[in-house]
Amino acid sequence: MEILKTVGLKKYYGSGVSLVKALDGVDLSVEEGEFAAVVGSSGSGKSTLLHMLGGLDYPTAGKVIVDGKDISALKETELTIFRRRNIGFIFQNYNLVPVLNVYENVVLPLELDGEKPDRDFVREVMKTLGIYERRTSMPNQLSGGQQQRVAIARALASKPAIILADEPTGNLDSRNSKEVVGLLKVTGEQFAQTIVMITHNESLAQLCSRVIRIEDGRIWKSDIGGNGSESGGIWKSNVAVNGSEDGRIWKSNIGGNESETGTGAHLPGWQGRGQR
Ligand code: ADP
Ligand code: MG
Repeated sequence: MEILKTVGLKKYYGSGVSLVKALDGVDLSVEEGEFAAVVGSSGSGKSTLLHMLGGLDYPTAGKVIVDGKDISALKETELTIFRRRNIGFIFQNYNLVPVLNVYENVVLPLELDGEKPDRDFVREVMKTLGIYERRTSMPNQLSGGQQQRVAIARALASKPAIILADEPTGNLDSRNSKEVVGLLKVTGEQFAQTIVMITHNESLAQLCSRVIRIEDGRIWKSDIGGNGSESGGIWKSNVAVNGSEDGRIWKSNIGGNESETGTGAHLPGWQGRGQR
């Protein structure tokens, strides 16, 4: 199922001689369960794209459709509510609230929304991320890698339609970077989450199921990823391919294939997003 789509998406900043075409006609489609990397040089439009996908700002032209809803047409207050309920953000600097402990940070967006956290689910997420034992710690007692794992748990806790991550490993060393991206991948599969992650690190992008290349505000290549394998994967191909792992189809970019990916088979009792 297609969970995220852009149609002729443009974002221009400034005007006249100072006009910047940060996005200049982006058509993108992301299937439920995909873990897509967005790569491109500095200033190519990656963060602008993520802001548009997450409804943090309005496009100059075109549409952003999340879970069937055209979010570019929403009024600001509707957009804020939609964002809180449907989009999980992960940023480079973690953005944890310093006066709240780990557990309180994880459930904060839910509580802001007046919702009761699904405690069993939140515990499962925190255990998967290896932070459950640290649930009463304060953010400043944690390493950068641990803080980012808390931020990932926070993004997952509300079972959003999509998770958007802007350079989530930008402040981490290479070992922690690999670990964090590995955890994003594992939790994405386990909890049937769709993830779009910006990175400028090619080897991290290769851990994703798809690599979207952007330059000068346009996508110039969108490939199937190596799915964790540097040499064995097909990632330089624009051809539609069904990858298979552990007997399951994990990636299909053909519209006709309705096979669900990663619907939470590893976790008994977890029914996937549809059961929210
Ligand atoms: P990236 O994340 O790939 O480094 P950005 O999306 O941040 O790139 O920026 C794309 C282009 O848009 C750059 O030329 C940048 O200077 C410009 N830009 C981004 N945000 C703004 C803004 N708020 N006002 C004016 N120009 C902006
Ligand atoms: Mg950026």
